[in-house]
Amino acid sequence: MEEVLYRSTRGKGEPVKASWAILKGLSEDGGLFVPDHIPALDKSLRELSEMDYGNVAYEVMKLYLTDYTEEELRGCIGRAYDSKFDTDVIAPLAEAGGAYFLELFHGATIAFKDMALSLLPHLMTVAAAKNKVENQIVILTATSGDTGKAALAGFADVEGTKIVVFYPKDGVSPIQERQMVTQKGANTLVVGIHGNFDDAQTGVKRIFSDRELERKMGDKGYQFSSANSINIGRLVPQICYYVYAYGTLLREGRIAEGERVNVVVPTGNFGNILAAFYAKSMGLPIGKLICASNENKVLYDFFRTGCYDKNREFVVTESPSMDILVSSNLERLIYRVAGEDGEKNSGLMAALSGQGKYEITEEMRAGLEDFYGNYATKEETAEEIRRLYEEYGYVIDTHTAVASAVYRKYLEETGDGAVAVIVSTASPFKFARSVMNAIGAGQGAEGDFELVDELSRLAGVKVPKAVDEIRTAPVVHQKQCEVMQMKDVVKDFLGI
Ligand SMILES: *Cc1c(COP(=O)(O)O)cnc(C)c1O
Repeated sequence: MEEVLYRSTRGKGEPVKASWAILKGLSEDGGLFVPDHIPALDKSLRELSEMDYGNVAYEVMKLYLTDYTEEELRGCIGRAYDSKFDTDVIAPLAEAGGAYFLELFHGATIAFKDMALSLLPHLMTVAAAKNKVENQIVILTATSGDTGKAALAGFADVEGTKIVVFYPKDGVSPIQERQMVTQKGANTLVVGIHGNFDDAQTGVKRIFSDRELERKMGDKGYQFSSANSINIGRLVPQICYYVYAYGTLLREGRIAEGERVNVVVPTGNFGNILAAFYAKSMGLPIGKLICASNENKVLYDFFRTGCYDKNREFVVTESPSMDILVSSNLERLIYRVAGEDGEKNSGLMAALSGQGKYEITEEMRAGLEDFYGNYATKEETAEEIRRLYEEYGYVIDTHTAVASAVYRKYLEETGDGAVAVIVSTASPFKFARSVMNAIGAGQGAEGDFELVDELSRLAGVKVPKAVDEIRTAPVVHQKQCEVMQMKDVVKDFLGI
C-alpha cells in the first residue's frame, strides 16, 4: 500500500506520518494537515456493501493511516464502535419523504461527533506509543455544543490524557450544556466562556500557537493536541460512513452499483461535508455535495460569489452546532482548489484573519463545481420538522431539518432526482424544545426532561440513554471565564 503523508495547508515544514499528524492536531505553521494524495478505494463497491461498519471503517482508514498496523487499526475500531452505540449497524439509514436519512446519532452522546470521537482517543494513545511520546496529551477543544460532550465522553479517564473544553455559555442548548457540566472523569475540565463559538475557537487556536506556553508545558510533561474537527484523526473516520451508507443502499437494492447519489450535509465547520468530498475523490459515486447552512450563511454566499466574508452579524439559531462564521475545514478545500499551493492558501488565510474576508479566483471556483450551497431560515427549518412529522411520522432535529429544507430547495431549483442521502447529525432529543415548538406540541411541559418524555411519546422512540443519564446526574463543572482568561484557566488546571 502506498504511504500517505500529511503536509500543512500553509506549505511550511516537512510532511509527517499519520500518527504524528493526529498527535499534533494542527501544523506548526498554523495550517491544517492534509493527505499528500487521496487514495482510491481498493475494494469494489459490491464487496464493501457486504461488510459491517467496522470492516468498512477498516478498509477506508487503512488507506489513510498508513503507519498504523492492521492490528492497531482494527483494535481502535473495535473499541470505538461497540455497545456505546444503541444499534449494531452503527449508522442506519431511514427512509422518509423520498430521501434517505443517514442517522449518525446512535453513539454515546447522540450527535454525529461520536462517529469520530469514539475513535480518536484510541488513535491518539496508539500514536503516542508509536512515537514514544511520554508527555501527557492535553486535549484542548472549543465546542459549539456537540463536540465538547463527545470529546469528553471519548477522553474521560483515558490514561495519559487530560481534556479541557470551552463552550459559549449562552450558545448551546440546555440539554447540551447539562451533558457537558455533568461529565465525570478526574482528567476533565469544562468551562463556559462569555463569547460565541468563534471566540472560543479563536481563543483555543491562540493558546495552541503560544510557543512560550508550549515550552512551559513541556517542562511539566504536557503537550497539547486537538480533538476539534481540524484533526485529521477526526476527518478520516468520517469518510467511512459515506462509504457504508452507499453500501447499505446497494445491498438493499435501492441503487445499482456505480449509480450516483447526492449527499446533503448540515454544515458548520465544514468537516463532515469535506469527508464526503474525500469519499467522492476516492471513487465513491457521489454526485452533488449539497452544503446546507442556517442563517449564518457564510458558506452559501461563498459558493455563490467566490468571496468568503465573515464580517457580518452572528445569528443565534436553533441549530447551534452550525452557528459558525469561520468554517475551519474549508481551508483544506481552498488549499486543494489553489492547486495545493501553500503560499497562495496562506495569503488567503492571512486576509481572513486580517480583513475577515478573502476572494478566490475564477480558476479556483471551477474546482468547486461538485458543491451546491443553500441555506434555510428558522421558519423554514421549523416547517420542515413539522412537515416530516405530520406526513411521515418521522421526527428530525433542527440541524438535520436545515439539511432537509435545503435539499427541497435544491430539488426545486434543479429537478435532479438522483437518490439523496441527508446526513442526520443529531438526535431530536438533544434539541427537544426547538423540535417540540416546531411540531407545535409540549407547551404544557415544565422542564426539558418533561419535554423529552413527551417527544418520546410523539415520535414513538425510546428516550436515548444519553438523555436519561443526565436527568439526575450532579453538576460537576461550574467554571466560567472571559475569552481573554482562557489561557490562565488552562494553566491553572495543569498547575503551571
Ligand atoms: C458539528 C455538527 C454539525 C456541523 O458539522 P461540521 O463538520 O462542523 O460541518 C452539524 N450538526 C450537528 C448536530 C453537529 O453536532
